[in-house]
Amino acid sequence: MKKEALLVSACLLGEKCRYDGGSKYCARTEQLAERYELVPVCPEVLGGLSTPRPPSEILGERVITIDGRDVTAQFRLGAERSLEAARKAGAVKALLKSGSPSCGRGLVHDGLFSGKLVPGSGVTAALLEKNGIAVYTELDFEPLER
Ligand code: SF4
Repeated sequence: MKKEALLVSACLLGEKCRYDGGSKYCARTEQLAERYELVPVCPEVLGGLSTPRPPSEILGERVITIDGRDVTAQFRLGAERSLEAARKAGAVKALLKSGSPSCGRGLVHDGLFSGKLVPGSGVTAALLEKNGIAVYTELDFEPLER
């Protein structure tokens, strides 16, 4: 029987696509390959940003790098391309990296690079949810393991 598709933040699978050139490998995420067809995406790379890149945070309706560049368009493009990848694979669930201005769900950094988290979601997580895709993070994905 064909496995259900699950969109996954590529950095959780060990891809070195984070802003600092590293990954956020999570063995539990990789183990989900036993029951799901994992579909890795990195929205920021899909949006045309390079790796490494300056860190970004959401400030109001915009996404701004630590050195003041507006990267909202790249973040939105990456979100659209991630949604397209989910639709193409038939994924109705996603497991994304918490805290990221693209992938985070429920809490994101405050836009001031202060290290403080505030309620909100990353650009991709928000777009996926708006389009009916259930978003989990590596902090709360027990339901995907049942
Ligand atoms: S955009 Fe998402 S997938 Fe890409 S590095 Fe950041 S958290 Fe990971």
